[in-house]
Amino acid sequence: MPDFVQHLSINACALLIESRAASSSLLQEQLARIMTSLAGFPVEKQIDFTEDPKENARLWAIRKDTFPAVGAVRKTGTTVIIEDVTFPVEQLAIGVNRLIELFEKHHYDEAILFGHALEGNLHFVFTQGFNNPEEVARYQAFMDDVAQLVAVEFGGSLKAEHGTGRNMAPFVELEWGSDAYQLMWQLKRLLDPNGILNPDVVLSEDPQIHLKHLKPLPAADEIVDKCIECGFCEPVCPSKDLTLSPRQRIVIWRDIQAKKRAGVDTAELETAYQYQGIDTCAATGLCAQRCPVGINTGDLVKKLRGRTATRKKTADWLAGNFATALQGARFTLHVANGARMLLGAPRLARLSAGLNRLSNGQVPQWTNAMPQPERAIRFSPAVADERPRVVYLAACVSRVMGPAAGDMEQSSLHEKTQRLLEKAGYQVVFPDNLDNLCCGQPFASKGYAEQAEDKRQELIGALLHASRGGLDPIYCDTSPCTLRLVQDLGDARLDLYDPVRFIRTHLMDRLDFTPQEAPIAVHVTCSTQHLGESQALIDLARKCSKNVIIPEGIHCCGFAGDKGFTTPELNAHSLRTLKDAVQHCSEGISTSRTCEIGLTQHGAIDYHGLVYLVDRVTQARAR
Ligand code: SF4
Ligand code: SF4
Repeated sequence: MPDFVQHLSINACALLIESRAASSSLLQEQLARIMTSLAGFPVEKQIDFTEDPKENARLWAIRKDTFPAVGAVRKTGTTVIIEDVTFPVEQLAIGVNRLIELFEKHHYDEAILFGHALEGNLHFVFTQGFNNPEEVARYQAFMDDVAQLVAVEFGGSLKAEHGTGRNMAPFVELEWGSDAYQLMWQLKRLLDPNGILNPDVVLSEDPQIHLKHLKPLPAADEIVDKCIECGFCEPVCPSKDLTLSPRQRIVIWRDIQAKKRAGVDTAELETAYQYQGIDTCAATGLCAQRCPVGINTGDLVKKLRGRTATRKKTADWLAGNFATALQGARFTLHVANGARMLLGAPRLARLSAGLNRLSNGQVPQWTNAMPQPERAIRFSPAVADERPRVVYLAACVSRVMGPAAGDMEQSSLHEKTQRLLEKAGYQVVFPDNLDNLCCGQPFASKGYAEQAEDKRQELIGALLHASRGGLDPIYCDTSPCTLRLVQDLGDARLDLYDPVRFIRTHLMDRLDFTPQEAPIAVHVTCSTQHLGESQALIDLARKCSKNVIIPEGIHCCGFAGDKGFTTPELNAHSLRTLKDAVQHCSEGISTSRTCEIGLTQHGAIDYHGLVYLVDRVTQARAR
């Protein structure tokens, strides 16, 4: 919120005016007319018209954030109500003042008003408890007054752009009069003689329907208690329509907690919630990006996983013997790769599908997209040379998982990355004891927060040492690991980069790009989105290829580290439209090796790291 907002007087109102025209001259003419029409009004703070999209977005954000602001300050257990009325536009200002008087009369001190002034349409938002009869009575008295004011006194409309629903159903006759109301009922009965279509919505014979079946928002967990159940988070969730959306996860968790408090047995619900709510959440927190009150439902899920994370000793052992665990993972991939060569890919796929079924998902299913084992990184210690240094943090997945056998790119990610960095003139150094290092993400996503944090701190220490106390930039080749490291770095001064940000900030002026003709698909990982690098990745891809496809409607691939192995239906559901979207692409790029496994399988094209493409289309710039 810009500073000036807090200095406005208590009765100030704001007009946000957007104007568009087919030509610049026409636009200027319109703006001049708008300014002339406003000239007679006192102005507390003048903001000039702007064509800068960033400034434009900032101004819109003030308007858009008013609704969630009320949601965020609401008391736990209360509900947020948004209404939608219209005054005749010439009486809008008086109508606004009269509504404010009603807020004061009924003590809705936190209520706010905003809307679409050009249409006379106002939304008012307030918080309301329905936990005792006094609160319900206050709400009833307020709604009666609002209906009387808008529909009778001002001849306005009780619903403008939203639906009448049940809240305004008792007032339809008041607004439209008895004749029109009876006509509506006749039509309704013709179409719905048995009254089975949305009973009590829009038209209801119950004058108190707006006071019944009120939806409580009971306290459930502080991570999600601010949720206003608006559903803005739902479109990006990979498990939506497979199991639960983030909103549904919260609603059901609230219900479970309320039932428990009321002494109701919730065992059956909780058993179902384990799969529907917990097991099928990718926990990558993309929902938080859309949530107006900043809720990350994945955090709730991780917390709930923590309650059943009983293999603490195993987690301790893995954290303390990470290099051995990685060797084990390489060995498993060796075995799978050997089986592929021996049996052939189709037979191995069939065999492992059977094993996966028999083991109830415990044995991961082998597919053509499975990585081959990667050799541990061998490197020589840094020597003094003139080139600028970059510390290269190869994530544990890229140290273990090589390219799939069928991938057109067969060099390892760390070789390719090192080559690209050196082409741009950097000296690449690795942290000591690399094979033991991990950002802790695999532990965190399984609910082992303590081991996860220990590994993260160990890695931060190693990076501080390798970067000479934060002097050298650090390149991490995997976005989810970068994200985990940059969150809450505390006092550690690390100059950390994911591939996208490093390439755009450190390599662009050292490389010449010659874009290829062949079309490519881009997958923006959840972490790239959290890191704010989505557009930069797309821009970078466009420097590399003249044809860039970003499949619509795919927000999180649902692979989520190892969910693609253990809960493959989540990955398959999330990527169900990918194959059609990328059918004309020759390859796909991303910045997370595990996401690429699922993308390759479901997109039926090779997905690999961004650096393969950048390396292919660039030459070192002559210096
Ligand atoms: S979690 Fe989802 S439903 Fe709840 S407030 Fe945030 S966006 Fe709305
Ligand atoms: S973390 Fe991901 S999978 Fe889980 S609720 Fe949020 S968007 Fe859905």
